[in-house]
Amino acid sequence: MTEMKTRDYIALEDQYGAHNYHPLDVVVQSAEGVWVYDVEGKRYLDCLAAYSAVNQGHCHPRILHAMVEQARRVTLTSRAFRNDQLPLLCKDLHDLTGMDSVLPMNSGAEAVETALKTARKWAYQVKGIAPGKAEIIACSNNFHGRTITIVSFSTEHQYRDGFGPFTPGFTIIPYGDAAALRRAVTPDTCAFLVEPIQGEAGIIVPPDGYLRECEAICRENKMLLILDEIQSGLGRTGRLFAHEHDGVRPDMVIIGKALSGGYYPVSAVLAPRDVLGVFKPGDHGSTFGGNPLACAVARAALRVLTEEKLVERSAELGVYFLGRLKTLRSPHVVEMRGRGLWIGIELSGPARPFCERLKEEGILCKETHDRVIRVAPPLVITREEIDWACEKFRGVLQ
Ligand SMILES: *Cc1c(COP(=O)(O)O)cnc(C)c1O
Repeated sequence: MTEMKTRDYIALEDQYGAHNYHPLDVVVQSAEGVWVYDVEGKRYLDCLAAYSAVNQGHCHPRILHAMVEQARRVTLTSRAFRNDQLPLLCKDLHDLTGMDSVLPMNSGAEAVETALKTARKWAYQVKGIAPGKAEIIACSNNFHGRTITIVSFSTEHQYRDGFGPFTPGFTIIPYGDAAALRRAVTPDTCAFLVEPIQGEAGIIVPPDGYLRECEAICRENKMLLILDEIQSGLGRTGRLFAHEHDGVRPDMVIIGKALSGGYYPVSAVLAPRDVLGVFKPGDHGSTFGGNPLACAVARAALRVLTEEKLVERSAELGVYFLGRLKTLRSPHVVEMRGRGLWIGIELSGPARPFCERLKEEGILCKETHDRVIRVAPPLVITREEIDWACEKFRGVLQ
């Protein structure tokens, strides 16, 4: 076979793959740290980090080592039997986060589903809501995944279009508006599901005190505060969890993405014991959830996060990166905002053409919500690499 080029791979995928994505036309073949390399050998700085799944940097050698070692021993037992890695991951997560208990899953959406099921069980068992009546409140412009139940409370037309009928039991309120939460609560409300910062919506940081007020409303009304930290958690915002900026104590935290450093889908719901205690054997499960390979990978990914001080790094370099970007004078930029190494550059028009041009310059970014360029590199990025990136942004935005 003759050597394949970028356009050959694209043609092949277009022919045989489903077209449910509109990727940039770069075909990645390998990666290391913040850099990815395409099939032509061109190098790019990854400023998406797989939606924060590779916070630890691509192909981190310590996670690779843990994965290979575990893959040699045992990869999957199913939860029909126990394995020696899951207890250690539960303990590591407890020690790191202070949460009592863990329910492991695979993808983020599955962990969100798990949290929703937990909230509903809790509604009937603990709060005493009449069977079939439990309501969960979520926010407009949310992103929590793509299952039918999750898109049932999406406000994005395209995510729902053609996928009905939908799961009932959800109420939508505006994001960042605690008074709206208070007004939406009914005696049948069991939970409020929210992202501490809305990522897919365009790095939307809510007003100061928002989460605290939401927490108070949840306490007053005996509701669970469920935080989706799948993208915001594990260091992205300069804290282990984004909710630490607000000093709240959620009833459930949903994590995924960087929990595996990008090696493997690993997600989890973290909660106090009495909340996850609503489950008894057989109520919920997953063949791959909590498998020894996933747990070994997650343990290594968490160790890298703490031992390489990536959370602190995100805080420090995030301030540096945003500060440097803000010195750019561009007629196209409406606002630059962010927390930690999670920066949104809001433009006056479509962001896609700028992402295409950045790609030509050797930077991979993904537009979100049309007009926002999201900048979210692996947390292992260096100051020199940020300086390099800022020069490219300057060239493209000015
Ligand atoms: C990515 C993401 C999800 C869904 O995770 P998947 O692994 O893609 O199913 C849910 N919530 C948030 C905030 C996310 O960023």
